Amino acid sequence: MARIELRGLTRRFADTAAVDDLSLDVADGEFCVLVGPSGCGKTTTLRMLAGLEKASAGQVIVGGEDVTDLPAKDRNLAMVFQSYALYPHMSVEENIGFALKLSGRDRAGVAQAVKAAAERLEIGHLLARRPRELSGGQRQRVAVARCIVREPHAFLFDEPLSNLDARLRGQARVEISRLQAQLGVTTLYVTHDQVEAMTMAHRIVLMDGGRIRQAGPPMELYDPPADLFVAGFLGAPAMNLLPGLVDRSQGAPRFRAGSLQAPAPEAAPDGPATLGVRPEALSPVPLGPDDVAFPGQVLHVERLGAETVVQVLVEAGDALSVTARLPGSRAPSPGAPLTLHAPVSALHAFDAQGRRVEPGCARAFAAAG
Ligand code: ATP
Repeated sequence: MARIELRGLTRRFADTAAVDDLSLDVADGEFCVLVGPSGCGKTTTLRMLAGLEKASAGQVIVGGEDVTDLPAKDRNLAMVFQSYALYPHMSVEENIGFALKLSGRDRAGVAQAVKAAAERLEIGHLLARRPRELSGGQRQRVAVARCIVREPHAFLFDEPLSNLDARLRGQARVEISRLQAQLGVTTLYVTHDQVEAMTMAHRIVLMDGGRIRQAGPPMELYDPPADLFVAGFLGAPAMNLLPGLVDRSQGAPRFRAGSLQAPAPEAAPDGPATLGVRPEALSPVPLGPDDVAFPGQVLHVERLGAETVVQVLVEAGDALSVTARLPGSRAPSPGAPLTLHAPVSALHAFDAQGRRVEPGCARAFAAAG
């Protein structure tokens, strides 16, 4: 177990920087998730840390030791790939014990370590099988077992759940989180799935264009998000973002989009702005005297059982729709009129550059309201 420090890490391919001057500290025992859209540089960052990709500039420090110029095999980092990269001609037992055998551990020691890891992952009954005789979920467990036998400085995961179906993914999220907590191993986990990031991370690092956009505990990024990019990325369904204008023609700053109006934060500059509201903040019934109303017409209804996700075409300029998460008992009909309500304190404001209007837009909105 060790602290990981990335210092000004850069990787250029031809004249574009896939990772651009990235600095990040992962504390000993921390579960840190790198998340972001396709091509933002997550995998390249992980591969530079693992020693599988050479850095164009910067340093990689593991447990206080500068490993930038060390080959992958000398870094004592265990990596689980999307494909699991199991050796097809070896049994599960041989796959799990391979690295220990290479390191010169005696046969009895290897067998004991393999048995302990296999029991922990509940795959003890599969030791004689070959990878092709396993399900996707079982392969994933073998890949994780292969990591834990080595007692590495850190676990590196590259989209380990993307080959699993939705139900297994949910299970595997819980298993990996639990195992990481039990073992206390420093973990850097790459995914493009914001649900994995929200549910597994101690700290999320949201990347865009090779750089870090925002880093912090999941709920700090969720509310309040630093900018439009973060607001749009985290949350499913995503935050509703309504483009409009802030003006002070009637004294206090107001946000306007078509016939929609809302109080705007005192700090919001006049001109183009975006109003953000999370789907769960919208209610089909009024909540209080300073609610903002979103009158509209139901476009689409998805009944998920516990909740109903409704898309409503609102009278906010250019045919804008908002998505609301309603209780599962509600099922409005497509085409029906529906007014959604949100408390002023649940509204977020973003300026023309996409930055959240400070201080804490929820408070600022409330003060303006
Ligand atoms: P994804 O979620 O799709 O896996 P990612 O965030 O992991 O994406 P990377 O795989 O790190 O992104 O790629 C970052 C950028 O670097 C992309 O634009 C990619 O096309 C580019 N890139 C990665 N590897 C190479 C390479 N070997 N040669 C040229 N360009 C590369």
